[in-house]
Amino acid sequence: MKLQKDAGRGDMGAPKRIRYKAMRYVLIGDDMFYRMLEGLLLNCLGPVESNRLLHEVHEGTCGTHQSAHKMKWLIRRSGYYWPTMLEDCFKYYKGCQAC
Ligand SMILES: [Zn+2]
Repeated sequence: MKLQKDAGRGDMGAPKRIRYKAMRYVLIGDDMFYRMLEGLLLNCLGPVESNRLLHEVHEGTCGTHQSAHKMKWLIRRSGYYWPTMLEDCFKYYKGCQAC
């Protein structure tokens, strides 16, 4: 996910819940990463990229029409993250004609 460099003026004034969540995210250059508890960094994807990845994981070259939970597991294992990934996996899974 790309962020504008001058977008944030710090987290002053943001609700505690948001600030707590923001602590899990790291910016490296223009790319945003999500920090796992083990310190592993996952590449954060925007809506377009995540949709492409859902398609690839579910019915792409290595896709075998996996269940939503398996899809999420595969995506995280590949080093990608976005906040609504499980929800999106379910949506994609339910919307698949072949399944
Ligand atoms: Zn399917």
